[in-house]
Amino acid sequence: CGIVGAVSNRNIVPVLVQGLQRLEYRGYDSCGVAVHALDASGERSVGLQRARSTARVVELLEQVQTESLQGFTGIAHTRWATHGEPAVRNAHPHFSYGPGEAQPDQPARVALVHNGIIENYEALRRDLQAKGYVFTSQTDTEVIAHLVDSLYNGDLFEAFQAAVAQLHGAYALAVMHKDEPGRVVSARAGSPLILGIGEGDSEFFVASDAMALAGVTDQIIYLEEGDMVDLQRGRYWLLDKSGQALTPEQRPVRTVQ
Ligand code: GLU
Repeated sequence: CGIVGAVSNRNIVPVLVQGLQRLEYRGYDSCGVAVHALDASGERSVGLQRARSTARVVELLEQVQTESLQGFTGIAHTRWATHGEPAVRNAHPHFSYGPGEAQPDQPARVALVHNGIIENYEALRRDLQAKGYVFTSQTDTEVIAHLVDSLYNGDLFEAFQAAVAQLHGAYALAVMHKDEPGRVVSARAGSPLILGIGEGDSEFFVASDAMALAGVTDQIIYLEEGDMVDLQRGRYWLLDKSGQALTPEQRPVRTVQ
C-alpha cells in the first residue's frame, strides 16, 4: 500500500500512475487516482475527478487513458484494506461533497488518500453524520475527507491541521480541495512519507517512499513523525507536529541513487 501526490505544471497523471506501479511491490487490493481535472483541450478546469479500480494498476492506467483523465495536481493510492472489503466504493481517493446526499453534477469538494488506520473513526463519523454528512464507504478513511470539509474556511492547510489534530491512529495522508487547484497538503504519523523536489523546483511530490519517484526526481527530503507538508506550485512548506516551520538544516534534501 502506498500514496503519491504531486503539484506540477504539466499533466501529472502518468507520473502518479507510474508511481503506483513502483509501489505495487508493497501489495494492495485496489487502487485509484484523483486530479484537479482539465478538459480535453487541457485548458478548462472541470473540478476534482477520480478513477478507482479493484484490478491491477495497469487496468487503472487503461481507465485513465480511456477517460482522458488529466491534470496538473493530483493524488494516488494503493489500498491494503483494513476497514471495509476491497471494493470500488471503498477504494481511495475518497471524496467529500459536503453535508447532504451527493447530487449528480455536484462537484466534489475534498479528495483524500490515506495509508494507515484511524482508531477514533466511529466517534468522528457519528459527529459528522449529525452535521449531515452522508457516508458512501465502509472505510475509516472517509471521516477524514468530511472532517477536512467541515473545517474548511478558505485555506486547505489550516483545515487540514485542525483535522489532523482530531485523529488518533496511524496515517500518511494527501488531500486536495476543489477551490485550490495548485495545492496538495500532506502529513505523516506512524506511516512513511517522503517529499520529492522535481526539476527546476517547479514541481513537488509526496510519496510513501523514494522508489515511487524513480526516474522523476532523486532529490528527496525524508519526513519525520508528525511532519506536515504544504505543496504549492513553485514552493513548499514543512512544519513539525507542533506547527513550527522546519528549516533546510532540520530536513535536508538528499540525493538518492
Ligand atoms: N484504513 C484504510 C482503509 O482501509 C487505509 C488502508 C491502507 O493503508 O491502504 O481504507
